[in-house]
Amino acid sequence: MNEEKWNFETEAIRTQLERTNFLEHSTPLYLTSSFVFEDAEDMRASFTEEKERNIYSRFSNPNTSEFVEKICKMEGAESGYAFATGMAAVFSTFAALLNSGDHIVSARSVFGSTHALFTTYFPKWNISTSYFNINEPETIESFITSNTKILYAESPTNPAIDIIDLELLGSIAKKHNLILIIDNCFATPYLQQPIKFGAHLVIHSATKLIDGQGRVLGGVTVGSADLIRDIYLFSRNTGPALSPFNAWVLSKSLETLSVRVDKHCENALKVAEFLEAHPNVNWVKYPFLKSHPQYEVAKKQMKLGGNIVAFEIKGGIAAGRKFINTIKMCSLSANLGDTRSIVTHPASTTHSKLSEDERLGVSITDGLVRVSVGLEHVDDIINDLKQALN
Ligand SMILES: *Cc1c(COP(=O)(O)O)cnc(C)c1O
Repeated sequence: MNEEKWNFETEAIRTQLERTNFLEHSTPLYLTSSFVFEDAEDMRASFTEEKERNIYSRFSNPNTSEFVEKICKMEGAESGYAFATGMAAVFSTFAALLNSGDHIVSARSVFGSTHALFTTYFPKWNISTSYFNINEPETIESFITSNTKILYAESPTNPAIDIIDLELLGSIAKKHNLILIIDNCFATPYLQQPIKFGAHLVIHSATKLIDGQGRVLGGVTVGSADLIRDIYLFSRNTGPALSPFNAWVLSKSLETLSVRVDKHCENALKVAEFLEAHPNVNWVKYPFLKSHPQYEVAKKQMKLGGNIVAFEIKGGIAAGRKFINTIKMCSLSANLGDTRSIVTHPASTTHSKLSEDERLGVSITDGLVRVSVGLEHVDDIINDLKQALN
């Protein structure tokens, strides 16, 4: 690996494993489950960690190491570990750091499966969670107790596209000696680097914009070396590792992250402006629209507004369902951050099991539609939304 300090785009492209004797230009794929030792002494030293080297691909593999190294450089992190999925990263990070009796303070609107960890699984191990409303940051400190160990949030949030002030979270975490963990999936390391604002750990679902082409699942946690050490030891024993093949795909994807995300954001802003002017739309939420309630915070902490636009269609659940059924080009899919634009209507689909009150608690109104704006020509995306809205 290279020790020079480059700009973001260059790090994403030039951070690379040492070339083999074949002098390949692009990093090869190391599909190997284990690595050989030269002799008994080599094996002993490797297992006692006197030597840093690959032993077994559950622990590390050249392809996963390259991927993690790139994310560390992009996020300004000391160290990291790559996981099979974003949820494996979320679960393993918490499980490695928490003990029975510990308490989490989290934003109320977090990714659905993360919410399920907090409400269904962690209580089995006597780990409790309190939730703050992302629009009432002044209440956060009131949830902190002597058992609180982790402060957790996503920004922008899914699916309501709220923004939380990362600098504020950083200062609260510092004051109360908490570990601040940010799920940075919607922003990508290109648009926002939470460590600058005081986060100790940053998690990504690499499945989304990092792959960006709807092909592979992956996850990663990066941050301070001492915390990553615990997460690494937990993970090397429990087995959520990223496969070398997916790591190779994801590392390649990072080479084009900045150009892809620039274009995603350019298209998304145009889509947001179109929606804001449409008579059948009540409101639009996009971080870089002046009408966004946290526009100033978004400008402070994000380079661009991201690729997700939320809006409320007039006419509630029925209108939302009809809109989805009238869409022609955009996909109806559970993914986001793909080259292909995707529309979802949470109230009639992903969140239909919640009561209206529960939905409103996470800012999902009946007419809320989420668009993951892709890389098709923006006129084609807008035309599809327009014919469905009309
Ligand atoms: C998708 C997603 C996850 C989970 O990632 P997977 O790769 O699907 O396991 C976690 N957090 C956020 C914000 C996500 O969008």
